[in-house]
Amino acid sequence: MRKMKQDSSADPGLREKFVAHLRQLHPDIWRHWFDEIEIQQPDRGMLWVVVGESVRQRYLERSCLQAFTEAAQAATGQLLAVRFTVPDSAATTETDSAEIDFEDQVLLLPDYTFDSFVVGPSNRLAHASALAVAENPGNAYNPFFVHGGVGLGKTHLLQAICQELLRRRPSTRLVYISCGTFIDLFHDCLRAGRMQDFRHRFRGVDTLLIDDIHFLSKREQSQEEFFHTFNTLFQMGKQIVLSSDARPGDIPDLEERLVSRFGSGLVQHLDRPDFETRVSILKTKSRLRSIDLPDEVAAFIAGRFRANIRELEGALANIRSLTSLGGSEITLDLVRAAFAGDAGSPARSTRPTLQQIVQEVSQHFDVRIPDLLGKRRHKSIARPRQVCMWLARKYTQHSLQEIGGFIGGRDHTTVLHAIRTIDSKRVSDSRLRESLAGIQRGQTFPPDDHTD
Ligand code: ADP
Ligand code: MG
Repeated sequence: MRKMKQDSSADPGLREKFVAHLRQLHPDIWRHWFDEIEIQQPDRGMLWVVVGESVRQRYLERSCLQAFTEAAQAATGQLLAVRFTVPDSAATTETDSAEIDFEDQVLLLPDYTFDSFVVGPSNRLAHASALAVAENPGNAYNPFFVHGGVGLGKTHLLQAICQELLRRRPSTRLVYISCGTFIDLFHDCLRAGRMQDFRHRFRGVDTLLIDDIHFLSKREQSQEEFFHTFNTLFQMGKQIVLSSDARPGDIPDLEERLVSRFGSGLVQHLDRPDFETRVSILKTKSRLRSIDLPDEVAAFIAGRFRANIRELEGALANIRSLTSLGGSEITLDLVRAAFAGDAGSPARSTRPTLQQIVQEVSQHFDVRIPDLLGKRRHKSIARPRQVCMWLARKYTQHSLQEIGGFIGGRDHTTVLHAIRTIDSKRVSDSRLRESLAGIQRGQTFPPDDHTD
């Protein structure tokens, strides 16, 4: 059990300061139940936030970690990592056999609906098929397998299917889960002797949607388990929807029987959107965010960012911060000036924070942030954690000690070891090299700084 004692040298105003910074920096995330949150005094580089229930803890971990970290650092002036915990629980960022939460896996984003999905030549077939699946689950196309590169709308489509299914039949039992979480849960249950619960959970649904199924690559045990999950559901006529960054046959180290199952229904592809679709997406997104985006600016941005939609959204966010700071209107001149030069966007001239690095790595490798910052030594987590350290060394001014403290309370020799490991591995390991390049191409990192 974590100690809830307050230190006598505690700063009694810490909670107020923290709340003030949080509300100022991130006014949109405040929830009424934040009033009940307890903030402990920082201890060895960590600030523990105590919340009443584990559902809230998970929510905060997934959705508010960055905001809380910024507020904690602003309130204390220290480099701190934020951890969430519930009273009377053992170290909750570590997997604890007693606490495996199946109910909390669905995190649907209200913006990801069919209504807000812009249709164009790049995604017309995938969209129509997804809609057909939502209208006629188990009968239209089963399994439905959609693949495409990063930021092209896979998650959006899967979530849109979920929301449409729920809208049509609120009592339907569906599970939407990322493949990484599926794998984690599987191992957690295995270790805790709770495989019965696991199977009950995944084999007792009407629709199972797994995002980024390519993460099954090389996971033999998880592949085995998923094979049986798949068969059980399929034989009962239940709908299965999968997304992936590659077509079934191109996922490396995937058992042949899974490749053939994945390809046995309908396989659809998401392409890069063309110019018109990009403009239209920009308009839809700006409407959702109440940004007044003139046509000529939308065209300028669409001409400039072609790779994927996440980039477009990054540009939009930058434009918004530009104008909300200056209180000015969005004009073509302003935007043109801001995006001048080689830099993809104005934000890219600034250096990433440790927290942003962790966030990017978590997304790229599909591992949970608490795992990255935690103590588990499984290779699937250890390698991404080393990547965090390597990036932190490259892009931030923090000392090895600070980096180690932030990333799981490790000492500087561990950080040094991580950096050396990545430096030597990336020479021989092309997948790692691609991962590093992919992460550094993101908006968080300065441009043209990742050729080595
Ligand atoms: P992926 O899962 O393929 O990496 P996402 O589904 O997360 O990509 O999409 C990235 C962003 O782009 C999301 O914010 C999503 O809403 C948006 N997006 C993708 N495709 C479309 C589309 N056709 N219309 C509107 N927004 C889209
Ligand atoms: Mg996705």
